[in-house]
Parts: sequence; structure tokens; C-alpha cells
Amino acid sequence: MFRIKYQQSRRAKLPFMSSPNQFQVHNPATGEILARLPIQGAAATVQAIESAAQYVPAPLETRQKWLETIGAALLAQKAELAQIITEENGKPLIESKAEVEYAAGFFRFFAENIGVLEPQILPKTARDCTWTIFHRPAGVVGLITPWNFPLAMLAKKLPAALAAGCAAVVKPAEQTPISALALHQIAREAGVPESAFGLVCGDASAIGKALCEHPDVRMISFTGSTQIGKILAAQAAPFLKKLSLELGGNAPFIVLESADLERAADALMASKFRCAGQTCVCANRILVQKSIVEKFTDLVIERVQNLREIGPLIDKKGWQKVASHVEDALQNGAQKVWGEKPITPKNDWGYFFPPTVLGDCRDEMRVFREETFGPVVAISNFEDEMEAITRANATPFGLAAYIFGDDQAQLNRAQAELKFGYIGRNSGTGPAPHAPFGGFKMSGFGREGGIEGLLEWCESQTVAKAF
Ligand code: NAP
Repeated sequence: MFRIKYQQSRRAKLPFMSSPNQFQVHNPATGEILARLPIQGAAATVQAIESAAQYVPAPLETRQKWLETIGAALLAQKAELAQIITEENGKPLIESKAEVEYAAGFFRFFAENIGVLEPQILPKTARDCTWTIFHRPAGVVGLITPWNFPLAMLAKKLPAALAAGCAAVVKPAEQTPISALALHQIAREAGVPESAFGLVCGDASAIGKALCEHPDVRMISFTGSTQIGKILAAQAAPFLKKLSLELGGNAPFIVLESADLERAADALMASKFRCAGQTCVCANRILVQKSIVEKFTDLVIERVQNLREIGPLIDKKGWQKVASHVEDALQNGAQKVWGEKPITPKNDWGYFFPPTVLGDCRDEMRVFREETFGPVVAISNFEDEMEAITRANATPFGLAAYIFGDDQAQLNRAQAELKFGYIGRNSGTGPAPHAPFGGFKMSGFGREGGIEGLLEWCESQTVAKAF
């Protein structure tokens, strides 16, 4: 099996090991120790940056070939990689398989579209010159990723960085580094040199600081919480580094009375319960028009009762946050319309939270103010479209929003007014490789996916050439 093969050779495969200290990677469902990895810090990061600075971008065709080969390898090893994701993250295997396919899609998309990086001669001439735009690689880039999609969050960044000719130094999340290590191994087998893809795990703040402060790093691409995003922005500011920040969300899910309620309920289940509700785009504030709120709630309960597979939350801290959100809502007048009483786990693993449906939620409750990151459906009702849009926008975040209805003019109006970077219209689906994705407001800036997500990693250089 790939993982065993990988585990046996993991020490040899780790590129930079300067620390004798180690941390353990656990299965969050069972507590099984999956790996022991060195705690690396500033010294290992600087070493990786210095190696990356030596990288001379390979020809475009070679980079394209790497991406094609890695994309194909991910699909060929889908079962083994999905197993790794499930073991280190806890999500059901079916979701992990979908994550591998999604990740492979980014490698394929950037391979297919690498041609946009060819120099572009502008049709208009001016001042006796022809004007050409070159897409130069940003240089050495620092990539920091979270645990909720251990493979996919890296796959949204790495192929675009490699396509652009950048050299990446990657820091995966402490809870889920094995997927990144597996991708590193696959990339090396595809011919990507060590200098183009370095990997460091361990002391997050020391690694982050070293990436932000080292003069050779020209861009930081981070996916994670808004809190850490702000720290990185502050650390990178004195060096004027390019930043791409994919941060937290607080997605509204608006159901208008004209909506197909069965379809909206199905979409809500897919959005809300993926990765046990621990995704940045998952519906957080369920806003339902008053005339249909009871019917819609019943449809949701029916589906929640039939949920067959749901993983644990990533850790104790995550579980405690979800439990405190539910408690806060109940103390402030929300009704629990479905859900067992959560039982605090005794161990350091197995933080399963019972799927819960809350009615009568209000904007001032924590379930509406903050990202809950758990399997809790928090429902509130509204009178009319204007109230729904105003309340949906009343958050510092602006990542994803969903709206369901049958009046196309109303939906057109609403989508223009919603201040979110991603909108699902009669759909609860998440982002796709061919489309740019990113946030407004405190959800960050920069785009991943699509052509925009490729150009993020370039500096455009304009050459005015005299006739
Ligand atoms: P997090 O605590 O911000 O951690 C994310 C990454 O940052 C991890 O690799 C973490 O390392 C690292 N990190 C922590 N402190 C750091 C520091 N001082 N300097 C540099 N790096 C540091 O977020 P999380 O809890 O893992 O992920 C959940 C959050 O990510 C949610 O808010 C979610 O909405 C957001 N998210 C956003 C998107 C998007 O596309 N916008 C996608 C997925 C998730 P350690 O693990 O070693 O601490």
C-alpha cells in the first residue's frame, strides 16, 4: 500500500530535517499515530528558501509535462491518497476520493492553460513602439495551507506556482502534513526538482516569520484563518511582498419562498455536512423566508436523520467551539429542533459532534456571527428580499453565499448586491478548477483557480520596443 511504502521511507523523503524534535500526526477518529515528523523552524525554512532561490525555471513545455504527469499520478493513486486524507483528516473516504479528483483537476487545468503565459504582443502600437507583455515568475513563493482539504488546498496553489516558473516552499498544517508529503513524493517522481518544491513542517509561527522576512521570498500564499492571515500580512508588510490570502467565511444560505425546497434542502446538506461542516465555503447562516421556514426545516431534519457517514471534528478545540456556539444559541432563545446531546469525549481524539438543527436563530448569536466549522444547521427566518440581503451582507466576511429562488430577476438583483466572492445560485456546489475563487472583505484577496489563479503567481513586465 502506498501509505505504508511512504511511511517506511518518509524520513529519507523529508527534504529538510534539522531538528531532533518530533511531532506526531494522529488519526482524529481513532487516535492512531500515523507519522512522526521533525519539528522544523526558521533554520530549515531558510535552508529551503535558499535552495529555492537557486531554481532556474524549466522551459514551459517541461513545466506543462510535470503538471500533466502529477495530475495523472494523483488519479492513478486515488485510492491510496484518499486513504491518507481520511486517516489524517477524518473525513469519509468518499469525500477524500472527491478531494483527490478535485486536486488533480487543478493540475490538469493549469497544464492545459499554461499557454496564457506566452508573451503577448498588444495589437495597438504607440510612440513608435510595439508593446509586449511578459509574464515573469514571481520568484520564490511561500505556501501555507490548512488541514480541512490537506491535498486540495495545496493543489490550488502549487500547480499554478510551478506553471508560472516559481519555486515553492510549502508549509502544510500540523494535523495533516502526510498528504503534502505524498504530493511532494509524486512531484519529485514526475521530475520536479527539489529546489522547485521544498517542504517544511513544524513550528508554524517560526516558519511563517522566516517566509515573510526572507528577502528571496517574493510572495506568500496562505489559506487559513483570518486571524493568521492578518499576522502574515503584518509580517510581510515591511518587505512589500505580494500576498494571496484565502481566509475564513461566514456563508449565508438564502432560501426564498419561490425556491424548489427539495433542491435547496439537498444543496444545504451537501454544503453543510461536507468535512463535518469544516469548510470555508460551507453554509453557516441559513436564512429562510418566513412563509416556508417550517416546511424547509422539516425537509432538512428528514435529511439529517438519514445522514449515514460523518467524520469527527479535527480536534478538541474545534469541538469546543461548536459546542459553545450551540450552547450560546440555546441560551439566547434558539430552539434545538434536531440533534442529540453532545458528549464531551474523554480522549484526545474521536471528537464527533452530533448533527444538530437549530431554529429561531438570530444575528447576534455566535452561530451567526462566527464561522461555526461544525455540523450545525442554524436557521433564521426573514420577511422579504431586502431583509435577507441586508442581513447576509452584515458580516465582515465575504467568501461564499448561496441563494435559492425561482424569480430570475430577483436572483439577478440579489447576486449583484451580495458582497461575496463566490455565489451559488440554486446550487450548493463549491469552487471548481477552471473558475477563479477568492474572498471579499475579511475573507482575503487574490484568486485561486481559473486564469486569474495562474496570473497571481506572475509579475507582468511590459516591454516597449522601438520600431
Ligand atoms: P489556521 O489556524 O489559520 O492555520 C492554517 C495554516 O496556517 C496551518 O498550516 C497553520 O500551521 C499555519 N499557521 C498557524 N499559525 C501561523 C503563523 N503564526 N504563521 C504562519 N502560519 C501559521 O487555520 P485552520 O484552523 O487550519 O483552518 C481553518 C480556517 O481556514 C477557517 O477559517 C477556514 O475558513 C479557512 N479556510 C479558508 C479557505 C479559503 O479558500 N478561503 C479554504 C479552507 C480553509 P499549524 O497547523 O502548524 O498551526
